[in-house]
Amino acid sequence: ERAGIDAGGTLIKVAIQKRQGWHFQSFSIRQVDECLAWLNERAAPLSLRITGGKADMVQDKLNRQDKASVPEFLASCNGARHLLALDGQSQLTDFILTNVGTGTSINLIRGETQEWVGGTGVGGGTLVGLSGLLTNVYDYSKLIQLAAQGHRDSVDLTVSRIYGNGTPPIPGDLTASNFGAVSSKAAVPPSADQVASVIGLVAETVTALSVMAAQKAGVDTVVYIGSSFVENPKLKKSVTRYSRQWGLTPIILRDGSFCGAVGAALSN
Ligand code: ADP
Repeated sequence: ERAGIDAGGTLIKVAIQKRQGWHFQSFSIRQVDECLAWLNERAAPLSLRITGGKADMVQDKLNRQDKASVPEFLASCNGARHLLALDGQSQLTDFILTNVGTGTSINLIRGETQEWVGGTGVGGGTLVGLSGLLTNVYDYSKLIQLAAQGHRDSVDLTVSRIYGNGTPPIPGDLTASNFGAVSSKAAVPPSADQVASVIGLVAETVTALSVMAAQKAGVDTVVYIGSSFVENPKLKKSVTRYSRQWGLTPIILRDGSFCGAVGAALSN
């Protein structure tokens, strides 16, 4: 049995490997003390590895010997391979791994190798921060609930709306301009629509970059991970649909928020 911690910009993810399987738990980065107390109760006898941008901060607070840190991309890529194999997908060896965390990072995985190929600052932090500025709701779950009733057409401009009765050169349902349908203060769309459109903006940005990366590398599958997909059907749907439009196979990995923590635990 072993444990891994992935301390990121927003959340701390913990993975504990037990005989029966993995146990996962996440905490806000503001609850680091609660997280460590929780961990001490359950995983004190286990070996522990830490990864993520805030690994040093967690390490400083931990009073134990075996707390070596693991490079972030190595951990998330190894964790993704492991969770894919548990999902019966061990035949998948070459793919793009897109991690939509607070920000978004994109890695190319070929067999045992991985290479960071880029990313974007548009990610889960954008979902919360931009939606917060627009609607004054900053709570992730509340934003997701709000978005559930939202429609993007009052906010975003599709290709077909620009072309009207003409024939567009690309699929008409693609977004021509995110937020481009908002043109006057007189017609401010409802909050729900605004949040739905922020989610659309995040979905389309991370997918477009993933598609480019996949085309450049000559791979046909993109595996999406990160906590931005947690309880977020709109993000999942847009990412899936848009990836497929480009002929790629999208996989939104179950428990994909915990790839970093799993990869850290495994590097014992
Ligand atoms: P990081 O490792 O950078 O913390 P994560 O993969 O944990 O990134 O994803 C963080 C994002 O997940 C947040 O920006 C937010 O969009 C989303 N999220 C999911 N669940 C929560 C939650 N309980 N609290 C805050 N953000 C959440």
